[in-house]
Amino acid sequence: MACALTALEDHPDVTVLGTSAVYETVPVGVEDQPSFLNMVVACRSEVTPEQLLTITQAIESSGGRERLERWGPRTIDLDILRYGHHTMKTERLQIPHPRMMERAFVLIPLLDVAALDPDLDIEEIQLAIEACDDCGGVIKYANELPR
Ligand code: AMP
Repeated sequence: MACALTALEDHPDVTVLGTSAVYETVPVGVEDQPSFLNMVVACRSEVTPEQLLTITQAIESSGGRERLERWGPRTIDLDILRYGHHTMKTERLQIPHPRMMERAFVLIPLLDVAALDPDLDIEEIQLAIEACDDCGGVIKYANELPR
């Protein structure tokens, strides 16, 4: 996760504006797996949404792999949640992310950086969090990503 954030910060076409706290999400259903760590990063960029996806996918497949615990190598998953007020749906990319409004592990960190996104309806996010039944499984892990 730290590698992926550094890669975003170092990318010439991306400016990181801010980051949420890091949240631990307890796995539901399959319990013999480690928790997930989730965070939201607010960025500014002049590239197209498709170009941004190419950037995030390159980070996923190169630097974005790290060992979170001794026995548990984990894959990083970078999703584009929103792109300003842009909406699109192609085979490769859907914006806003189609499942973001149902996921407490997305919405809770999104709220942390909401002030950085003038196009975001904060009240809508708060109502969506209240409607999520998995809020209790999202626990603050760290105020900042340990680097
Ligand atoms: P996942 O397994 O959840 O990482 O999904 C990755 C796939 O979702 C990729 O093939 C992307 O082309 C596609 N995709 C569609 N919309 C998005 C989005 N908003 N952010 C990231 N990937 C997306």
